[in-house]
Amino acid sequence: MKKDLKCPMCDSSDFKEENGYYVCQICGNKIPVQSKADKQSKQSSEKQKKPLPDRLIRNGLIFLVLGIVLLLGIAIIGSAVYGRAYFFDGYFITRVLTTVAIIWIVGGFITIIVGLLMKFSQK
Ligand SMILES: [Zn+2]
Repeated sequence: MKKDLKCPMCDSSDFKEENGYYVCQICGNKIPVQSKADKQSKQSSEKQKKPLPDRLIRNGLIFLVLGIVLLLGIAIIGSAVYGRAYFFDGYFITRVLTTVAIIWIVGGFITIIVGLLMKFSQK
């Protein structure tokens, strides 16, 4: 009768509600009606713990750091192998990697700003 409920013993979703329990019609396993509601409210409160602005800031930071690391990597490898850092004046691959790194840095930066703006406008 409860379609979204699954028996932990036999995986059946055939239940009947009885005296505050969902009773599995296959194996007789009983699940308190209350526990399912508790679980759902717990799950939704966990979701609320990580609001969108925090995720934006975290993801923005990841991309910002990745972009800086990539740019530094290009500079360090260029210096080590060719004696100087090549970005847009290097090989095709360094141009592509430099572009990707700059997109990550700018994108990460914008994402962090948007996240911060959202965070402060919520208060
Ligand atoms: Zn069962």
